[in-house]
Amino acid sequence: DLPQLAEDDPQAAALKYVHASPHSDKKCSNCALLQGNEGDEWRPCAIFPGKVVAAEGWCSAWAKKP
Ligand code: SF4
Repeated sequence: DLPQLAEDDPQAAALKYVHASPHSDKKCSNCALLQGNEGDEWRPCAIFPGKVVAAEGWCSAWAKKP
């Protein structure tokens, strides 16, 4: 299993990544860049290779899922 992305990881901090999204309408689970299996709590993200991010998380690279 891939390790969870830490909020204080320099790359995460640069993109203001947090495990709990501050936006009601924007989170990793509805971001176009999220990968892995629908419904998983932690999933890979195209922006952070080798780590998993929280489905309920968010970062400033969020992009609307088409
Ligand atoms: Fe979450 Fe950011 Fe990855 Fe989108 S780009 S899935 S908002 S960490």
